[in-house]
Amino acid sequence: MSQMMSTCAGDASSLGAEFYRTHRETIYRRTDRMFAALMAVQWVFGIVAAMVISPRTWAGVESQMHPHVWAAVVLGGVISLPPILLAVFKPGHAVTRYVISVAQMLTSALLIHLTGGRIETHFHVFGSLAFLAFYRDWRVLIPATVVVALDHFLRGLYFPQSVYGVLTASSWRWLEHAGWVIFEDLFLIASCLRSDKEMREIAQRAADLHVAKEAAEGANRAKSQFLANMSHEIRTPLNGVIGMAELLIRKGGLAERQLRYVHVIKSSGDTLLTLINGVLDFSKIEAGKLELSRSDFDLRGVVEDVVEMLAPKAAVKKLEFLCHMHLDVPARVCGDVDRLRQILINLTNNAIKFTEEGEVVVAARLEQSSDDRLFVRFDVRDSGLGIAREQQDRLFKSFSQLDASNTRKYGGTGLGLAISKQLVELMGGTIGLQSEVGKGSTFWFTIPFLRPTSRSPETTRLTSIPPTRGLRVLAVDDLPAQREIMREQFQAWGFVADIASDGTEALTLLRSAATAAAPYHLAVIDMHMPLMNGIALARAIKGEPSLQQTPILMLTSMDQPLDPNEMSAAGFAACLTKPVRQSELFDAVATALARGGLTPSVAQPEPAASANAVAETSVLTDLRRLRLRVLVAEDNEVNQEVVKEILTDAGCTVTLVSTGAAAVQAVASHEYDVALMDCQMPEMDGFEAARRIRNAEGHAQPVECGALPIIALTANAIQGDRERCLSAGMDGYVAKPIDPDLLFQAILTLVQRSLRQAAVSAPAVARATEHTVKLAATVPGYEAPINLETLLRRCRGKATLVESLLGKFDAAIGAQLDELRGAFTRIDGAAVSRVAHAIKGASANLSANAVSSAAAELERLGAKGEWESANESLQRLETSVRECLEYIPTVASSAKQRAVEVKA
Ligand code: ADP
Repeated sequence: MSQMMSTCAGDASSLGAEFYRTHRETIYRRTDRMFAALMAVQWVFGIVAAMVISPRTWAGVESQMHPHVWAAVVLGGVISLPPILLAVFKPGHAVTRYVISVAQMLTSALLIHLTGGRIETHFHVFGSLAFLAFYRDWRVLIPATVVVALDHFLRGLYFPQSVYGVLTASSWRWLEHAGWVIFEDLFLIASCLRSDKEMREIAQRAADLHVAKEAAEGANRAKSQFLANMSHEIRTPLNGVIGMAELLIRKGGLAERQLRYVHVIKSSGDTLLTLINGVLDFSKIEAGKLELSRSDFDLRGVVEDVVEMLAPKAAVKKLEFLCHMHLDVPARVCGDVDRLRQILINLTNNAIKFTEEGEVVVAARLEQSSDDRLFVRFDVRDSGLGIAREQQDRLFKSFSQLDASNTRKYGGTGLGLAISKQLVELMGGTIGLQSEVGKGSTFWFTIPFLRPTSRSPETTRLTSIPPTRGLRVLAVDDLPAQREIMREQFQAWGFVADIASDGTEALTLLRSAATAAAPYHLAVIDMHMPLMNGIALARAIKGEPSLQQTPILMLTSMDQPLDPNEMSAAGFAACLTKPVRQSELFDAVATALARGGLTPSVAQPEPAASANAVAETSVLTDLRRLRLRVLVAEDNEVNQEVVKEILTDAGCTVTLVSTGAAAVQAVASHEYDVALMDCQMPEMDGFEAARRIRNAEGHAQPVECGALPIIALTANAIQGDRERCLSAGMDGYVAKPIDPDLLFQAILTLVQRSLRQAAVSAPAVARATEHTVKLAATVPGYEAPINLETLLRRCRGKATLVESLLGKFDAAIGAQLDELRGAFTRIDGAAVSRVAHAIKGASANLSANAVSSAAAELERLGAKGEWESANESLQRLETSVRECLEYIPTVASSAKQRAVEVKA
């Protein structure tokens, strides 16, 4: 340590000396320049003075230029030019300074002479000395003083008139003058020495500051690097733990107890990961390195996702957990969905954590909107501990927990609220709370989202059910908040909605409605109510002939799932688990109404799970169908294992390599559909490997046509990684520990995107294989330039026939297009129509549908002579022909492959 300090001190003092030298040098150069200018001015001034004082002289009858004028011109030049040249060509050098010092004094002497030894001109000497002190170098004053003394001495002796303006002078007068000069010198020298000392001190201070700043920056860099490394080091094994646990759960076949253990392992791993992410997030925000992303998203869905995700926790504590989405909440907004989710999770988690009984409500509403902004306010309300006024201020500070015993009881880092506040403010919003001890707290925040860039099809679906206009619904719940939410919701959907707080009130309302011949078309009943619970109420309804036709929707909580048989027997139209998503409620209501409530249905499966299952299976099924060949470059064995298992499960053939170099080699010698690239690997890292693969492909940009899709796998959460991956030519980015669903989605998206491009571009032909054709068929909305299936069918599976058709088309189309263009220039509609007709036939034969429809259109327009539209249609035809020609090799090779398969 002490050695390090002394090294630093050494660094600082040599840096100080360096700063001092640089500064001094700057002063020398600047003063040199000033003197160069001064010299030039003095020279001119001397000449002018000589001209004014003694322009001509008389020798007998002739007049001639006075020798003073010659002296001013010639001597002035001889004295001034050398220092001027030196100042220009050798600024800052010691010799320049000394020559300037001597020359300046000689100039004084010349001026004194030219003015006839006027005593006033002697002041020039003192001025010049002061000016020389600008160098802050006392040594330049020495030659100056010597020159003055010598000059006065010699001229006093031989030419006193020139220096003192008198014919005779005391031979000691020079000494008096020299004495005054030395007198001035003393002050100037003292001032030079002092300012030199100050210069050194200032330089040293600057150097100290510089060194300290460097050290601080170094420490900061080391900290971020440390965090990055830490995160990598911790996440890698954690990846193994979570990944393996996930696999065990997915594989099934475990005994119940084992499965429970595995769940504990998984959830502990997840918790640890959240913790690491929190700390990382916080330091990223602190360092100002967190960047927000921006995309359109389904706002309601996100809030409901969070609620659904945390519902089990609330269920364990037997809390009523509600989601109140006001109807004005926009369906879609544009903003950072992940950060929003993070804040909601933080606040809702706290609310559940610090509430022992009662309810937690997550609400959202539109507070304000402008041309480009949608200000949404979120409230997370609980009936928990509450927070004292004086404690509320420090709540949003990092690492602050109100009560140490809480930490032991509930866990936590004290970072959640600090992070939430920073995130909210980063997004331009505000955050705050209202709370009363013992009564509960409401944490709220507002976010100014941007308006979505695209419109959503969802918007209309949830806001109106035309057939329900005027239908009557009764919502029964003992919780006022829940009743209100339902009333608002149903009214918004066009129902006439009534509410009841218990079974007795509900029955009364139902009966009087029936008597008034305006029966309810639907009853929505909460399962858990005091006195008469939902089932009892439903039985009562079904037991009364005038009411029994009423369809019933049952709402129950997660901790008390209902037996489907019992539900069916009780005659429920559907049974939903709270918290209920709006869309889910909507679907259940629509279904119940459609069935007229006469066919009691079995309880629906848990909606969220089923929704996820649907999404997952569609991605998974697509992936399995693709049977992708995946290259995985990853150095950690556990991670290799995890990734391989996950991918194999998705029907992929996996090749594992553990260095970047091996990955590059593998890509060169084998064909893969996608590569997963760990970023940090020994020898050659993922970035370099990706760069080399792109170089070898000749592709600068990611997902260019025909390029191999590369997805980065990284455990580093430090910002900038994403950019690094993309700039290295990778196409996507999946964080470790790997979430299989995210990975599947990333692979599918990229592969499909690359295929879409591959199928229509020339460089792709090299990679185009039977595989590609098969894959392309799975891309939604994609239609190949040539429909291989129908073409093969038409050729009765004969590859040779396919090939000859393709060849003929290829050979003829160029000339045909030329002919078309010729007909266009001649404005010959009949010819256009004729050639287009021929192309239409040939391409239809080939199942090149885009070409044949463009040709058909051109045929029609040509015949009619509609030249403007015809021109557009010609361009369309040319484009589709180009795409078709580029696609031909792909079709040919897959046709051959098919033929081989058929034979086999
Ligand atoms: P953590 O929950 O990880 O300790 P937070 O920053 O999220 O950190 O919360 C800081 C502290 O604020 C908590 O420890 C708790 O004392 C208090 N707090 C937060 N939310 C609530 C709430 N809803 N009710 C009561 N106290 C709360």
